Amino acid sequence: MTIKTMIQQATNELLAAGVEAAATEARFLVESLCALDRKQMLMHSNMILTDEEVASVESAVKKRGTGYPLQYLIGRWEFYGLPFEVGEGVLIPRADTEALVDEALAVMEPIVKPAVADLCSGSGCIAVAIARKRPDSRVMAVEVSQEAYPYLEKNIVLNKTDNIAPVKADVLGGISLSMAGAFDVIVSNPPYIKTDDMEKLQREVLFEPSVALDGRKDGLYYYREITRRWKQCLKPGGVLLYEVGYDQADEVAAILLQNGFEDIRKKNDLNGIARVVSGVRTSSL
Ligand code: GLN
Repeated sequence: MTIKTMIQQATNELLAAGVEAAATEARFLVESLCALDRKQMLMHSNMILTDEEVASVESAVKKRGTGYPLQYLIGRWEFYGLPFEVGEGVLIPRADTEALVDEALAVMEPIVKPAVADLCSGSGCIAVAIARKRPDSRVMAVEVSQEAYPYLEKNIVLNKTDNIAPVKADVLGGISLSMAGAFDVIVSNPPYIKTDDMEKLQREVLFEPSVALDGRKDGLYYYREITRRWKQCLKPGGVLLYEVGYDQADEVAAILLQNGFEDIRKKNDLNGIARVVSGVRTSSL
C-alpha cells in the first residue's frame, strides 16, 4: 500500500469512528508509526509501505477508533515547542497549560537565578518549558505517581535540561523544613475535575490517569491543600501560580486570599477562559 492510500484509508476509518480531525490524525499516525517526516510523506506519497508498517497503522487506527488518545499511540506530544514522551499513566500536555508557563516566566523575568517548584509535575512539561526558557533557574519537579514519574525523568533528559531536580514525592506529604522560604515561584496544575464530573469527560480523557484529574468532591481539594502546606516555602514576595478549571478562577482566588496572599491575578488562556490564578506571598504569612 502507498503512503497516500494508507492515509486515505486511515482517514476514512477514523471518520467512521467519530474522530473529528480524522485527516490530521491519520497523517500523524502514518508519519510516526512508519518513522517518516512530514516532508518525506508529501514528497514520496506513492512510496510503498512495508506489510509491518501497514499492520501497525491499521491496529493503531482501530485503537484510536475506540477513543484511545492519539498522543499515547504516537508516544510523543509537543508542548511549548518542545517534545515530550507520553503514554498510559501520564497526563497529556494541553495547550491551555502554556498560559501558566507564560505567566510564570513573566513573574520570573526580573529575578536572577530564580528557584522554582513545579508541584504535580506529571510529564514535566511545565518544569521543562520553564527550565529551558530560563537556564539560570533551578526547578524542583515533584510527582508522586509511579507511572508518571519515569516520564518526568525521560523528558528532562530528552530536552537536555540540567537545571531540574525531579523528586518522587506526594505534594501533600511532609515538607522538609529546609524548604521554608526556598522558592521565588511555585507553579502547579493539580487535579481539578470534580469527582462527579469525571465520568462525563470526553472519551479520550477517560484513558488518562484519574489521579491526574480528580480534584475530589468540589474539584478544589488540591488548591486548598497545596496552598496551605506550601505557602511557607515561598520567599516573602514569592508567587504561587495555578492552572485552574474553566469555572474555578474565583474560587481559587478566594483560597489564595484566605491564605493571606495578596495581589491576586487572573490570566486568560487562548480561548479567553480565566486559566491562571496567582498570588504573592506577604511577609507576614
Ligand atoms: N485540563 C485537563 C482536562 O480538562 C484537566 C487537568 C487537570 O485536572 N489538572 O481534562
